[in-house]
This record gives sequence, C-alpha cells and structure tokens, in this order.
Amino acid sequence: MTIAIMGAMPEEITPLLEIIGKHETISYAANKYYKGKFANHDVVVAYSKIGKVNAALTASTLIEKFGAQKLLFSGVAGAVSAELKVGDLIIASQLCQHDLDITAFGHPHGYVPEGKQFVQADKSLNALAKKVAKSIDLKLKEGIIATGDQFIANVEKKNWIESTFKADALEMEGASVAVVCDALDVPFFVLRAISDAADMDASFSFDEFLESSAQISADFIMKMVKEIS
Ligand code: SAH
Repeated sequence: MTIAIMGAMPEEITPLLEIIGKHETISYAANKYYKGKFANHDVVVAYSKIGKVNAALTASTLIEKFGAQKLLFSGVAGAVSAELKVGDLIIASQLCQHDLDITAFGHPHGYVPEGKQFVQADKSLNALAKKVAKSIDLKLKEGIIATGDQFIANVEKKNWIESTFKADALEMEGASVAVVCDALDVPFFVLRAISDAADMDASFSFDEFLESSAQISADFIMKMVKEIS
C-alpha cells in the first residue's frame, strides 16, 4: 500500500524521514516529495508549507500524482481544550474551517453550499491510533480540530473557536487536507502534538516546543504505520 505522510513545516517531517531512512527526492509543483519504504509499505512524505491552500495542493498531489491510498498528517497545534498541555497528542474526529465565513447569507460558520461544516476523519485509522496508544500506555485525545489561515495567539479568538465549533485544538492545515481526502475518497488521519495554548504566549511557546512536539507526533505516527496492514 502507498501511504502518504505529510506535515506543514520541515521540522514536522525531518523526524519522519530520519525514521524512514533511505529515500528518493522528487521535485514537483514547487515542492519536494520524499519516497521510501517502511514496514512493507511504500511511503511518500512531504511538507506542504503553512496554510490551507498549500496543504490542499500537497494532499491532492500526494493522492493524484503519488497514488497515496491513505494519508496521515503529523504536526503541531495550539491547544483549545484546557485538558491539552504542551507535548500532548490529539487526533481529529472531525475538522472544520474556522475562518470560512459566509454567515451574512444565513449559513453557519465554516460552511459553504455543497460543502460540509465538519469533515469526519477515517474511523478505522482513529481506532488503530487508539489501539497503538493503549499498547504503549500513552494518553491520546480524540476531538474536533479547527483550521484557519491564522496563527492564533489570542484568548478571545480561541474561546470563540471553542464555543462556535466545540474545537479541542487548532492549526492551519488539517481541515483543508480533510476536504481533499473526503472528495477523493482517500482515508485520512490528522495527528497533532500541542506546541502552545493559542494565547498571548503562543509564539514563544511554539518556537520553544515546535521541534520536541513535532518529534512526539512523528514517533507516534510511525508506530501507527507499522500497524497498518
Ligand atoms: N514560526 C513559523 C510560523 C508557524 S505558523 C514561521 O515563522 O515560519 C504555525 C504552524 O503550526 C502551522 O503550520 C499550524 O498548523 C501550527 N500551529 C501551532 N500552533 C498554532 C496556533 N496557535 N495557531 C495556528 N496554528 C498553529
């Protein structure tokens, strides 16, 4: 099976490539794609660059050009739920776009006609993640992840996202990957390790914990890939 693993930033995929080892680099669509083998699977890895458009392009390319049959996202996020602390892992049950707004026409936040306000992640990949977490006694939260083209470092905005979408974490790529995978019928999974609390200290916390949290996410996702049959 061909499994795609993507992140948004170099820091999020470097630990993946270290675990995968030998790989080939292919340049395409102003980006680099890394092909290798891991646990009897063909794997293709890429970082999209930050934001929804970049992530949608990369997810589409991983599927349409590289033939990905499952797509896993590994990266970092800001915590919304007070339960989540730096280094904790969350998997998305559903994802939404908190910055998509045609509410002037009476639609709910995050909704456009013929779209979905929430896109559901693949249930069997989530079940596998929970099984792997349990086997190594690791706490893994499942919840709603809200995505938008903004780094959130503001408690009011964070609280608005929490009350509007019941989100537990927020980031800048997940929901766009979800829209692409849902449309192309490819099972997908979004894993994030917390780097900050999306509050006024978020940028400092992000800089301090990006690498360590990205490593936590990458380590877990590669454990999962081993279990995908
Ligand atoms: N420091 C980077 C910018 C990082 S943007 C630079 O200067 O280039 C934040 C990235 O981490 C995005 O990919 C996003 O998905 C995730 N993220 C982590 N915390 C976030 C937050 N509080 N708000 C939005 N995205 C966040």
